[in-house]
Amino acid sequence: MKKYNFNAGPSMLPREVIEATAQQCLDFNGSGLSLMEISHRAKDFQPVVDEAVALVKELLQVPEGYSVIFLGGGASLEFCMIPYNFLVKKAAYLNTGVWAKKAMKEAKLFGEVVEVASSADANYTFIPKGWTVPEDADYLHITTNNTIYGTEMRQDPEVSVPLIADMSSDIFSRPVDVAKYDAIYAGAQKNLAMAGVTIVILKDEKLGRAPRPIPTMLDYRTHVEKGSMFNTPPVVPIYCALENLRWIKRQGGVEAMDKLAKQRAEIVYGEIDRNKLFRGTVTAKEDRSLMNICFVMADEYKELEKDFLDFAVSKGMVGVKGHRSVGGFRASCYNAQTIEGVNALVACMKEFEAKH
Ligand SMILES: *Cc1c(COP(=O)(O)O)cnc(C)c1O
Repeated sequence: MKKYNFNAGPSMLPREVIEATAQQCLDFNGSGLSLMEISHRAKDFQPVVDEAVALVKELLQVPEGYSVIFLGGGASLEFCMIPYNFLVKKAAYLNTGVWAKKAMKEAKLFGEVVEVASSADANYTFIPKGWTVPEDADYLHITTNNTIYGTEMRQDPEVSVPLIADMSSDIFSRPVDVAKYDAIYAGAQKNLAMAGVTIVILKDEKLGRAPRPIPTMLDYRTHVEKGSMFNTPPVVPIYCALENLRWIKRQGGVEAMDKLAKQRAEIVYGEIDRNKLFRGTVTAKEDRSLMNICFVMADEYKELEKDFLDFAVSKGMVGVKGHRSVGGFRASCYNAQTIEGVNALVACMKEFEAKH
């Protein structure tokens, strides 16, 4: 039976990307050696990093004066590297979910943290609006897509302080005005590549201002100066990212990804709103994530939750169980998700409705 992958992360990648990466793991550039066996300093590998950086810059139209680096440690390491490198006195954080909260926790180690707004009391079912940022904040940190709760800020907010964003689960799904940001970071395993690499986009002139010694590995300047080659980088994940960046470009870039994301979301949310058995969990419709579509059984059908999950699994749906802090279901629709995939999910929801 054909499987449809709705995993939240690590998540679905285009088949072509997996095959091309697997091929290089068997024989890198016809060298007779695996990508896993070569030196990251080999002359064949440098072009991989160079092309990946160039494609990130091209796809997101990264302006002059910014660097793109690849790091290990996951997005979670950035929760501390960001304040280590950027927090001088005070930083503002928008608390939109568990990941934002974890980022705030680390920032508190380095200075004053102002929570500009939070939707924690409502289990993060919306993105807070109408907040103000202290003028003297070094930056405002946002989480553009809240993977667990299915909310998303698909527009770059207008604020008077520099922005820093965790874009782990929606990077490359839409155009971004990078010039508004001092830093953007994203763990690869949601929407970019296999797990093991984090992409960071940094405004060069803002580096080196933090009033504290920074351990070499945690100092962004180290990795910018050495072109992500200070120590051994995650070679295979970087290669996988390169193949995915090439794939995004072939599809028509982030504009095409944005269009596809909207089409997929319209199909799935349309069915959630139509089908009497289900309801969406996000209370403000404009905040609904196009990447992670969260829904539960309508109150009168609560007892059918397990039945629907079993039914969906029997129809080939993978990873549709919701996160434990939300319950119900989550259909993650990252760049690689197809219209066929979401149609299969919707067919499954309709068929289940007809039985009840
Ligand atoms: C998954 C996720 C993280 C954590 O990523 P790791 O690479 O596992 O550290 C952080 N932020 C967001 C928005 C995520 O979705």
